Parts: sequence; C-alpha cells; structure tokens
Amino acid sequence: MLMEGKTIQIAAIEPGLYELVFANRDDSVNKLDQATLGELQQAIGTLSAQPELRGLLIRSDRDSFIVGADITEFVGLFSAGPEEIATALQQMNAVINSIEDLPCPTVAAVNGVALGGGFELCLACDYRIMASDAKVGLPEVKLGIYPGWGGTVRLPRLIGVDNANEWICGGNEQRADTALKAGAVDAVVAPEQLREAGLDLLHRCLAGEFDIQARRAEKQSPIRLNQIEQMMAFESAKGMIGAKAGPHYPAPMAALKTIQTHANMARDAALAVEAKGFAKLATNAVTPALVGLFLKDQQIKRTGKRHEADAAPVRQAAVLGAGIMGGGIAYQSASRGTPILMKDINEDALQLGLSEASKLLNKQLARGKLDGAKMAASLARIRPTLSYGDFGNVDLVVEAVVENPAIKQSVLAEVETQLPEGAILTSNTSTISITQLAQGLKRPENFCGMHFFNPVHRMPLVEVIRGEHSSEQAIARTVTYARALGKTPIVVNDCPGFLVNRVLFPYFAGFTALLRDGADYRQIDKVMEGFGWPMGPAHLLDVVGIDTAHHAGSVLAEGFPDRMAKDGETPIDRLYQQQRLGQKNGQGFYTYELDRKGKPKKSIDASLPSLLEGVVGPAREFSDEEIIARMMIPLCIEAVRCLEDGIVTTPAEVDMGLIYGIGFPPFRGGALFYIDQMGLQAFCDLADQYSGLGKLYQPTDTMRTMAANSQTYFG
Ligand code: NAD
Repeated sequence: MLMEGKTIQIAAIEPGLYELVFANRDDSVNKLDQATLGELQQAIGTLSAQPELRGLLIRSDRDSFIVGADITEFVGLFSAGPEEIATALQQMNAVINSIEDLPCPTVAAVNGVALGGGFELCLACDYRIMASDAKVGLPEVKLGIYPGWGGTVRLPRLIGVDNANEWICGGNEQRADTALKAGAVDAVVAPEQLREAGLDLLHRCLAGEFDIQARRAEKQSPIRLNQIEQMMAFESAKGMIGAKAGPHYPAPMAALKTIQTHANMARDAALAVEAKGFAKLATNAVTPALVGLFLKDQQIKRTGKRHEADAAPVRQAAVLGAGIMGGGIAYQSASRGTPILMKDINEDALQLGLSEASKLLNKQLARGKLDGAKMAASLARIRPTLSYGDFGNVDLVVEAVVENPAIKQSVLAEVETQLPEGAILTSNTSTISITQLAQGLKRPENFCGMHFFNPVHRMPLVEVIRGEHSSEQAIARTVTYARALGKTPIVVNDCPGFLVNRVLFPYFAGFTALLRDGADYRQIDKVMEGFGWPMGPAHLLDVVGIDTAHHAGSVLAEGFPDRMAKDGETPIDRLYQQQRLGQKNGQGFYTYELDRKGKPKKSIDASLPSLLEGVVGPAREFSDEEIIARMMIPLCIEAVRCLEDGIVTTPAEVDMGLIYGIGFPPFRGGALFYIDQMGLQAFCDLADQYSGLGKLYQPTDTMRTMAANSQTYFG
C-alpha cells in the first residue's frame, strides 16, 4: 500500500500502475470534505514522487464514486466572504490541476454517482469510464451556485457549449447512455466490469493507442467555436435559461455568463474567471437559503430513516374512499410498488379512482418513464372493492372519506374490526383532531394522522400526526409507508390545522383583511407571485376550494379564537354563500375554463366587485411592501408559534413543511429562515407597525427575547 488514509488509499496494481481508491472509513459515502481534500493533495504528491509512475486509475470502493463536496462546510466558507472563497477555490483548483498534469495517463472509473466536485475531479482525468447504472452531473445551480472546481471550464471544452450549458444550467443528473453520447465519458460497461475495463483502458493508453496530450490540450485551450458560433450558442441559451430559472434564481444565468466570459481563454485564466464569479454568487442572499434547504431536507430525511429503522415495511395497504385524495393515494402506492386495496361505497367512485390512476400512468408511459409491462403491473397493484373481504392481511389503512367527523368515526370503528391486531389505521383528515377521531377506537394506540396534499402525486409532503394515544410504533410505520411512497414525512403533534394549515390560514386572514381595507385581490396576487409564491392567495384559495377554506377556517377560528376568530363576514364567506367554490365549479375569485390540454385557465370576473360589496372596503392604494408585510407577518408568527408550542420539534421541520406543503418560495428558505434573514429585531419592529391589525400580527414574548439577545432560528 503506497498510502493508507482515512478516505483515500493508493496501491500498486503492477509496476508503475497505481489505483487511487476513495474509500471513506467514517461514512457510507465518499464526499470531498476538507479532510478528503487534504488527503487527495497528499495522494497526488505521493504519486508524483514515484519515479516509475506510468498510469493511474481513480475509483471508489463505496456504492458511489463521490457524491460531491461536503455541503455542511459551505455555510462557514460562504459566510467568510468572496476573498476567502476565491482563495479556497484556488487551492482546490491547484489539486485538481495536479491530477490533470500528472506525467501519466489517468482514468476515472465511475460507479453509483459522481456529482458536483466528484464529477469535476473525473473531468480532470484523461479518460472516464462509467458503470451502466451510474449517474454523473453538476447539480450546483440547485444550491444557488455553479461548479467551482473547473466544471464550467472543462465540461464545455469536452462536450461542447450547447450540451454543457444544458448540463450546468439545468443541474440534472445524467444517465450513462446520455453521458456517453455527449462525450462526457469514453465508455460505459456493466458495473461488475468497471475496474477491469478501467485497467484495460490504461493498458491501451500505455500501448500508445491514444493521444493523451491532444486530449489534455482540448480541455485546456480556448473553446473551439468562432465568435459568431459563440454568439449564437450563448445568446440563444440566455433566453431559454433565463426564462426557465425565473427572476429569483440567479445561478443558471451566472453560470452561462461565466462560460461565455472564459470561452476564449486557456485553462488557468478560465479557472480564475470561474472562481471570481463563483465567489460573487456564493455571497448572494439566495445561496444560503438554498444551501440551508438542502441541509434541512437531509436532516428531515435522517429523521425519517430513524423511524424506518424501528418499523416493519408496509406490504399491503388499503385506502378508504376513492375520491380525489383516495384515488391519488392508491395511484401513488401502486406506482411505488406497494399493493393497495381501494374501498368505496360507490361503484362509480371506484371507476373514477381507477381511471384517474390509469390517466396518470398513461402520462408516464407517453413520456417514456414507464413501459407497458410496468404500467400494467402498477395498475394491477390497485384492487378496487366495495367490501372489507380482503382486509384481513392489511398492514396500514388510510381513511380518506368525506370530511365529516361522525362519518369518519363510524368508518374508522368499522374498519378496525376487519384488521389484524397490529395493523395501523390512519386518517387523511385535513382538519379534524386526531385525538377526537381516536375516541371510538378499541386500539387508539394504532391510530394516527396521515395528511397528504393535493394533488397527491405531485406534492412531496405528508404530515404524520401524533394524537394523544398514538404509539411511536404507529408513527414509525406511517412514516415508513410515506417514505415508501416517495414522500417527505414530517411528524407533527395534533392541533387544529396541524402544521401546514395552521400556518396557511393566518396568511389567508392577512389576505381577507387587506380586501376589507380596500386592496385589490389582483394586485395582491401579482405582488405575492412576484415575491415568489407559485400563485397568489386569491388563486390559491380557488385551487384549495372555497368550501374547504370556509370549513377549515371555521375549525381554526374555533381552535384559536384569540387570534383567528372571524370579525364579521369575509370575502370567503360571501363566495361560499354564493356557491362559488373555486376551480372545482369554475367560479371563485376568478372564473375558470379548461384549456386545450384540459388545464383550468383563469380569467378576471367583472362581476366580482359587486358580489363582494359590503365585505370589501372602498378601494385604497397599497404599496407592494405593505402587501408583503401584511401577508407574511401573520404566516411567520404562526410558524414560530408552532415551534414554540412543540407542534414540530425543529425549525427545519417548520420550513420544509411550508416549502413542501404549500409552495413557500424555496429561495427564501422557509418562514423561519426568512425571519432570520430579515433579523428577528427588524421583523418584530415591522410587525409592531401593524399590531393594530390584531394578535396575528403580534410577535410572541419568546420572539422578543430572542431578538433582544440577537438569536436566530438557524445557528
Ligand atoms: P371526495 O369527496 O373526493 O372523496 C370522498 C370519497 O369517499 C367518495 O368517493 C365517497 O364515495 C367515499 N366514501 C364516503 N363514505 C365512505 C365510506 N363509508 N367508505 C368508503 N368510502 C366512502 O373527498 P376528498 O377531497 O378526496 O377528501 C377525502 C379526505 O381527504 C377528506 O377528509 C379531506 O378533508 C381530506 N383531504 C382533502 C384534500 C383535498 O384537497 N381534496 C387535501 C388533503 C386532505
């Protein structure tokens, strides 16, 4: 063994031929953290000092090659400022360049994934060989940055500007066949042949079959496009990439401009341009929000995995009710591989549930994400039924019948008698207390909430609600099932609205109060969309359903009368009374017609002002800032209350619940991160300007104490 580090080992394979193996002993994955980078530098130094060095294979003995840089280290580095960032990048580039400049051929053998810095390291090698099931990519833009270890320099010189723009600015992982076609890798082999194929390639290099110097020159010279070709490539990409990224995500455009700026430069000058642009981007306000998001997501997944370790998987599920939600849950379960019984009391509802599921599967088929056999297998996993006949071997039931406490309680008590002793019973209720629903059950410890969001196949969040009697086993198994469905579960304690709706309705209260005071709902929608929400509050209410909002609003008003009790008739009450239920019947704040693709398209309804007469005040001008403050303050304070009341245990759960459940703008990092970025004292000062609007606008005592002590929610 030439070197035996904690993360890197070097061994001679035959005289002069070495393999450098990433083999992290402290973790299940290889990542490029400071310790590994230190070892890498030492490793290259050791190799360079070998007088007989003839060839190097770089590979991994973990399931993946390298998952990327260690993102937990970004937070400290990025807050150190642009100069420190640029210095750190220069040091890293020196290490990567030293691989590229080794006096012998180098081959990277990629298994699992090689992402971000892991793939940039591969790009420094002369050749790349990839396992057929592996993936490569530069996902940095998803963190608000771009590749900073030579990725923007080497990739366009290797695979061409158009492909590289797409890879870098899109940030997607690429499959082996795509990587081979683009020229990012030189061969794709069966996973078990990877090392052997890598060695074979090295031998062929040594036999003089390939011109390594020409390969290196290609990666280190200016991009081979003339000025006109460059202009065409970059200008056409700008329009597309700018439109896709939108105004709140600067990284893709910054990446594109960087590639364009260094297109005519040789390696070292190009790397300096990349480093300078990276340092500027990394100190942008969006980057810490997106990096934080990644870390919070990891934290929540770790919590989910801990629950999973304590629970048996669900092998057979059942859903009661084949409506919008029940049908969606059945589809999600079946398409992710867990067989599910779908029971309704109505044959037509079963047919509708099945046809919705097959519609979704057909879409996947049309997109090539599924073949006919897999589609048939998925559909066969849904067994529609009008009886409890087969419930004897069900592990977990999701009740998704109509939102009526009496009906739900009787259905739950009924199904409980049909289930095996240890089976878990859950309810998808949006508003009814889980503790209350458990009242008629014989085994309330086996019962908890499992709150999906609509549409089920698209919304990543599932709230798993712990009632007073729910056992940890019931929670763990429900979390396990949610994860098997590809969802992100967050465990919350029972309270009216749980986490997400409890925080959303104060935001709607902000909206109706603005209308009462004379604001225009269209302006509010426009401003809040500009703020980053996928849709404004009026549009969102139409999508949620005015009836649902009306009902949930009453539940919350009853649960938190001190701040959510209604003060007279609201526009939501008026629309409900007029049976304008939103998108579901084509009329709410807006009117809706289906477009050619069958999607509802909204239009302004000229009759709305007269319909809302008496519940909205005389028109008054509001600045965008005032609208944002009046909408966001109640949402943020209620989010804090959920944390203070122990509805969830960590700030990360609050923020991710809002991002995954209601589309809180991701680049703002979540409600608590938003407060942190504003500064708690500044937030309290702003809220105090609106304290006359009621308790929803009044920060808690703990918030004030934290503000006085300059504390934050995220360290
Ligand atoms: P829905 O009206 O579309 O479907 C309810 C289904 O339950 C109907 O098909 C009905 O025939 C069936 N049903 C009624 N009694 C039954 C019984 N005894 N046994 C079996 N089936 C029975 O309703 P939905 O929108 O799917 O909502 C279902 C539940 O999910 C509600 O509790 C609702 O609050 C909750 N939820 C809805 C949404 C949403 O956006 N629609 C979101 C989250 C949660």
